[in-house]
Amino acid sequence: MIILAVGIVPSAIMHFAILNNYEERAVSLRTSDVQNQCKILANHLITYNYLSNTHAETISGDLEELHPKGAGDAAADSNLEELYLPNANSEVVNSELEQLSNLYDGRILIIDKNFKIIKDTYALSDGKTIVSEEVIKCFKGETINHYDEKNHYIEMTIPIIDPQTQEMHGVMLTSVSTDSIVDSIDILGQKALVLEFSMAILIFMLAYILAVALLRPFSRVINAINEVKEGFTEEEISVPDYLETEYITDAFNQMLARTKVLDTSRQEFVSNVSHELKTPLTSMKVLADSLLQQEDVPVELYHEFMEDIANEIDRENSIINDLLTLVKLDKTEAQLNVESKDIAEVLESILKRLHPIAEKRHIELILESVRDVVAEIDEVKFTLALTNLIENAIKYNKDQGWVHVTLDADHQFFTVEVADSGIGIPEEERAHIFERFYRVDKSHSTEIDGSGLGLAITRNIVLMHRGSIKVESGKETGTVFIVKIPLSYVGTQG
Ligand code: ADP
Repeated sequence: MIILAVGIVPSAIMHFAILNNYEERAVSLRTSDVQNQCKILANHLITYNYLSNTHAETISGDLEELHPKGAGDAAADSNLEELYLPNANSEVVNSELEQLSNLYDGRILIIDKNFKIIKDTYALSDGKTIVSEEVIKCFKGETINHYDEKNHYIEMTIPIIDPQTQEMHGVMLTSVSTDSIVDSIDILGQKALVLEFSMAILIFMLAYILAVALLRPFSRVINAINEVKEGFTEEEISVPDYLETEYITDAFNQMLARTKVLDTSRQEFVSNVSHELKTPLTSMKVLADSLLQQEDVPVELYHEFMEDIANEIDRENSIINDLLTLVKLDKTEAQLNVESKDIAEVLESILKRLHPIAEKRHIELILESVRDVVAEIDEVKFTLALTNLIENAIKYNKDQGWVHVTLDADHQFFTVEVADSGIGIPEEERAHIFERFYRVDKSHSTEIDGSGLGLAITRNIVLMHRGSIKVESGKETGTVFIVKIPLSYVGTQG
């Protein structure tokens, strides 16, 4: 439809513009032609003294009867010629007038100073008096030249002036028909219409063929996508007909790959969750069964087993709590309760809370604040993230070890470094520690409590603050976690 419109509208505009232009031009040409002819005629009128001769016509007619022209009488002939001249000249001018009016299919009126019509080529108004605006204006020196579009004629006035004396003898009121111009415009218009119509049919056919040909690869893309959607194929789709279809299929393939990754990670997550939740249950079941299978179990053993069962329940509880925290973080990603906080103060209160746990193993907790930092953070979530890091630094530490927390900032970011003197994380494991349920070296995971969800939660929170987290560690040299967060949360948006 667009191609059709683009093809037809300009040609329709051109059609009207050209025809209008043609009419204007033809009328102005006709006007100037007629004007020129009339001016020549007006000169003739003066030269042949037509205006006064027409009065003398009857007298000269009588003279001809009295003195018939004799052959061979040269002198008399020349006398007679002089005598007959006015009449003969009038005839010449009359025929010129007739010729002109016939040529342009028009009417010429010759009007004298007394507004009397002394010649009408239609022979309708000879001798009558005409008092029209145009004629009066012409006598005042203003020539009129007017095109009546409705009735198809051009009207003009030409003054009859004696070139020598510059005296005005009369006015020539001429109206010529423009029927021939209108006729040729009609014919031209019809031809243009036929041409336009055939052009429209041609453009329509072309547009249809083009549309079908151009859109075919896109329907192929749709079919390919539908095949994937309906599960006939899992392969990547490819429609390399156009660059555009290639872009679309590439984007679709990337999306497909991402969905596959998400699907796999979801399955993995579900299986991990089930596994992690099942482990404490299995232990509890074993403990309970062994108690039930024995008779006369001593109270001490009951007590011991019950303590183990309670521990497993605690473990199950903490896993479920961590899971709920993660789910909540995912859901409320956009709702960060950001406010300006003194970071050193926040860190101090975390260390204070963790102090009793560190004390138990004689681990030293040190906070070093290189400079005062006030930043925009969600205090509750930030506290949770840093608590996880420092708790890990205590958990995976040696007795009598140390945990060093350093706060620093530049003009854009603040960094919190949590370094410990602990067991460290082997290089090949470092890439995985932020994954959900991932625990390094499963052997000591039985000794040290944990769900493997703590670092995943921490990473989520840091990312929500538009920050980054990285880990540096050597096998025996302890671990360093570095958290980097922008000072201004709003400034990082967009
Ligand atoms: P967990 O509940 O097991 O502590 P996390 O997600 O907090 O789970 O940590 C994942 C794993 O990363 C831990 O199991 C531990 O092996 C390792 N890890 C975390 N922090 C430290 C640390 N400071 N030193 C040594 N290993 C660590």
